[in-house]
Amino acid sequence: MKITGIATGEVRIPLARPFKTALRTVERVEDIVVRVTAENGMVGYGEAPPTAVITGDTKGSVLAAIHQHIAPAVTGMDILALDEVLERMDRSIKGNTSAKAAVDMALYDLWGKVLGQPLWRLLGGYRPSFETDLTISVGPIPRMVEDSLAAVGDGYRILKVKVGKEGLADLPRIAAIREAVGPDISIRVDANQGWTVKDAIRVITAMEDKGLSVELVEQPVPAHDLEGMAKITQAVYTPILADESVFSPLDALEIIRRGAADLINIKLMKTGGIHEALKICGIASLYGVECMMGCMLESKLAVSAAAHLCAAKGIVTRADLDGPSLCSVDPYEGGPDYDGATVRMNELPGIGITGVPCDFS
Ligand code: MG
Repeated sequence: MKITGIATGEVRIPLARPFKTALRTVERVEDIVVRVTAENGMVGYGEAPPTAVITGDTKGSVLAAIHQHIAPAVTGMDILALDEVLERMDRSIKGNTSAKAAVDMALYDLWGKVLGQPLWRLLGGYRPSFETDLTISVGPIPRMVEDSLAAVGDGYRILKVKVGKEGLADLPRIAAIREAVGPDISIRVDANQGWTVKDAIRVITAMEDKGLSVELVEQPVPAHDLEGMAKITQAVYTPILADESVFSPLDALEIIRRGAADLINIKLMKTGGIHEALKICGIASLYGVECMMGCMLESKLAVSAAAHLCAAKGIVTRADLDGPSLCSVDPYEGGPDYDGATVRMNELPGIGITGVPCDFS
């Protein structure tokens, strides 16, 4: 069944509250939406947030990559020869992982719809539901404590706390949150590359000595500093999770072989979509390295593609898929059910999003 066209639109959704990390502050989701059409009129949808500060992708670069390179390469191909379509897309332009991710998930969505099965079943069918954490933005301690208590009140049992702005001064943030939420809530700490190697070892060791029982620490130092990541991983007991250091399957292999992290955070916008993310799952499975499925500031469309992968694979043991919960409204119809901390998959074919509110051209 031939792919007859690829069109793009735009979706804008205000966030319920500003999203703040060591790298940036964001007030709304402004993402590009992709629609792939087959010759029988069936459509698949994908989405990309241009996250310049992390992936280097801008709105202009995503649109140019899709319309000038990817669309000409795959239009006219058979959607049922999905592997070949995706390999050709990958070769059509170097880099541009967000653009590739949006088209990749639209192709997978269409493929699932043509086959009449939900993606999570087609890709492995490991679990019909899973639990996600909720992000707590970095800010003044009272605000972070208040946000954490509100999250726990909403039923979240795992918090992902953003730090990394102030080195050793991040320690009281985590201590205050642990004291407020009690011992039964899992706390993940994400420094977003904001610490030095010495800061990281000092802060993490202090958290361990204080018994703050942090589940993991994510990307303590800059993405390129694999030597530093390895030093920290070897120096502390707390598991270290690589996020910005791992884009491609080759990055994942390098991290694992160098012992530069204990865990890997897979995000479709870094890998360039599900096709490459599956390769990371394969490598991670070989080495017994558990993965987290994460997202950028994406709305329910792109997050749902990640949710399908998370539900499909046993090696993905953690989910940081709170994008839809951070949005003030849900403009889509269909898709998995985001019920607070619980994400439930269903039997809708493909990704399952049936209504996308934007104009395509
Ligand atoms: Mg992160």
